[in-house]
Amino acid sequence: MTQAPLFQRLALLGCGLIGSSIARAAKARGGIASEIVANARSPKSLARIAELGIADRVEADPAEAVRGADCVILCAPVGAYAALATAIAPHLAPGAILSDVGSTKQSVIRDVGPLVPAGVHFVPAHPLAGTEHSGPDAGFATLFEGRWCLLTPPPGTDPASVARIESLWRGMGSMVSVMEPAHHDRVLAIVSHLPHLIAFTICGTADDLADETRQQVLQFAASGFRDFTRIAASDPEMWRDVFLNNREALLEMLARFTEDAQAMAKAVRWGDAAYIEDKIERGRKIRRSLIEINQA
Ligand code: NAP
Repeated sequence: MTQAPLFQRLALLGCGLIGSSIARAAKARGGIASEIVANARSPKSLARIAELGIADRVEADPAEAVRGADCVILCAPVGAYAALATAIAPHLAPGAILSDVGSTKQSVIRDVGPLVPAGVHFVPAHPLAGTEHSGPDAGFATLFEGRWCLLTPPPGTDPASVARIESLWRGMGSMVSVMEPAHHDRVLAIVSHLPHLIAFTICGTADDLADETRQQVLQFAASGFRDFTRIAASDPEMWRDVFLNNREALLEMLARFTEDAQAMAKAVRWGDAAYIEDKIERGRKIRRSLIEINQA
């Protein structure tokens, strides 16, 4: 006997890299949803999603997309969540689960939490998986395999709904952990948001150099700079929203980083070889431990 799928109708509001990867993973693995409804903002993306055939139905109106869905996942940039939640709230089915994939969690709980109607279960989530590409063509079915998904349910969230969202992510190959939202935002500020801020900044600095130098920067781009440009190729709207919605934690990590960078500058100025070597050795150790736990 085949088991009933986890959800009857899964609605994805936003179907770019992350939303389309959920659609693809759910289809490829089976057992997750009987029907997938996708929504995006632009007619171009809606047409492309239909063309790719990654959803059973494509809806231009978010309110229509969520009608009758027992699971709705917000997959748009976090700055768009409040408007999306306002548009869908009156149309959410009683008993439905509302989740998301946003890279910040306190802001999502602040923006969406108060709009969730009684009887709808809100389970915020964040898959720690992605690439620098965006849009419906960028997604792929194996994106979440072997990667963590962090759930940040507010106090009092229905445990059965948390368990179903956990099953959804495990069903797509992820490992799942529950985390307190403020802790999530601090951890992500250092492991993801600050590295992106540094990448955008270093590319901007290189771009500010005189024309001739810039050409040489690009012509002779060594792997260090090349790696930064890959990160800096990420979607501007998504990252603008992440920075603006994790402001405090990001500024705190940036302040710490700036202190440490100043200490490194001092060591360079004073020829403190031991300090420099120690910092590089710590970097190598971190890289080795990431490789050991399969997260490199
Ligand atoms: P993406 O590829 O740019 O896709 C964004 C989707 O949201 C598109 O379907 C877009 O529609 C739609 N959208 C954009 N602005 C909207 C608005 N104002 N109202 C309604 N829909 C809108 O972005 P993504 O990388 O999938 O990111 C989606 C979410 O996942 C973000 O919250 C992000 O923080 C989170 N996340 C991203 C990563 C990553 O590495 N990229 C990893 C984990 C979590 P159009 O195509 O029509 O514009």
